[in-house]
Amino acid sequence: MKIHEYQAKEVFRRFGLPVPNGKLAKTADEAYDIAKWLGTTPVVVKAQIHAGGRGKGGGVKLAQSPEEARERAKDILGMMLKTKQTGPEGQLVRKVYIEEGSKIARELYFAITLDRETSRVTLMASAEGGVDIEEVAAKTPEKIFRVGVDPVIGLRSHHARDMAQKLGMTGKTVNEAVKVLQLLYKTFVDTDASLLEVNPLIVTKDGGVVCLDGKMQFDENALFRHNEIVAMRDLDEEDPKEIEAKKYDLSYIALDGTIGCLVNGAGLAMATMDIIKNAGGNPANFLDVGGGATTEKVTAAFKIILTDPKVKAIFVNIFGGIMKCDVIAQGVITAAKELGLKVPVVVRMEGTNVELGRKMLQDSGLAIQSANDMLDGAKKVVVAAGK
Ligand code: ADP
Ligand code: MG
Repeated sequence: MKIHEYQAKEVFRRFGLPVPNGKLAKTADEAYDIAKWLGTTPVVVKAQIHAGGRGKGGGVKLAQSPEEARERAKDILGMMLKTKQTGPEGQLVRKVYIEEGSKIARELYFAITLDRETSRVTLMASAEGGVDIEEVAAKTPEKIFRVGVDPVIGLRSHHARDMAQKLGMTGKTVNEAVKVLQLLYKTFVDTDASLLEVNPLIVTKDGGVVCLDGKMQFDENALFRHNEIVAMRDLDEEDPKEIEAKKYDLSYIALDGTIGCLVNGAGLAMATMDIIKNAGGNPANFLDVGGGATTEKVTAAFKIILTDPKVKAIFVNIFGGIMKCDVIAQGVITAAKELGLKVPVVVRMEGTNVELGRKMLQDSGLAIQSANDMLDGAKKVVVAAGK
């Protein structure tokens, strides 16, 4: 689960981290009031969307007065903000964050994530932070360094001190950074985050260290113990198809292709996406209906695929182990009868109750092509989806 910058900064504040003073505005007049209340110049008007790269896309603007803050908020609110992370159509800006402008001496990059290779919480940092970090990562990856944290020992001050010095900090700034890095590590661990990124982490002109941006993502399996984080969920920023899938506890991820996939089992779902690619097509989603799915769940899953305008053909690829093929067939038939089948469907089914499942599909009168095996199904569905 993702949250906005202004929410990440609320979390940071709660953990005692230094962030600029600021408040959220939903209208240009509110932006004016907040700028006046802050009483500093400049203030910064920042688009709040679940994507980074806002600065380069025109979503972060300086304002020298409350009047100008109102004007900048007017420009940004309601815009379709396009950044490297939003996709070509951009994302609608519904809120702006108004905060004090900081006096920046240096912009650094700092992030914490879980490194699956070492199974350790890993800190990443670079002296070349700011809006061009993607370029640094692509062209000079050696300028980003990593430190794995031993889970028993945690992040001790000497680890943090070492990092601060590698980032080129000196004097009292090192001490400030040690505090900040240790608190960021605590924030990451205590909130069950999967990603915490501060880009830029800045050194101010008077040698202080401040978190100027904040991005956090959380492990959904741990959300049950963080009501305060669940409350930050912003459904406006999430794909409606993924929201619907969550209601039915389906593992669903929307992708960019044209072939909808209804599959049981995460491994088979991955293999299905691979084989579609191999046959020259592109999957429109990852979807695992799970082992013991009910007809209701399968119906919901098939409806999500049917209502996706990107989908030009559907591949139902089922191996009935615990899952019974007739349950899948019933879900497909119910959803298709309710919404109508406007795109070709290819079905490959094996396993428990396969004869019954096939017969149900045949008798349903729906135009469904059957496949002999996975590869045959993939080839058929790619042809059916066309170009
Ligand atoms: P994004 O990463 O989405 O582009 P940031 O919050 O990192 O958004 O802002 C982009 C850039 O804008 C920063 O690298 C920094 O140079 C500048 N900036 C952001 N917030 C402030 C602030 N409060 N004071 C001064 N400059 C800021
Ligand atoms: Mg940033």
